[in-house]
Amino acid sequence: MTATYFAQECPSCGRHLQVRLEYLGRSVACQHCQRQFEAMLTPPQSDSSEDLLNRANELLATVATATRTVPR
Ligand SMILES: [Zn+2]
Repeated sequence: MTATYFAQECPSCGRHLQVRLEYLGRSVACQHCQRQFEAMLTPPQSDSSEDLLNRANELLATVATATRTVPR
């Protein structure tokens, strides 16, 4: 089983981190500076954390359905 990651910039040191998708909305620690922050997606247009959650759910759904054929 492959883990899915998304890219996020560390708010402290600015490095690009690979955060596991399942850590979305949770507190994670930067592997470079050990700074703790909340993992979240940063899409171009979003004005609420609800959007972020919806987007995350869509991503998760995509991952879940990508492995099997969905009849239409
Ligand atoms: Zn950092």
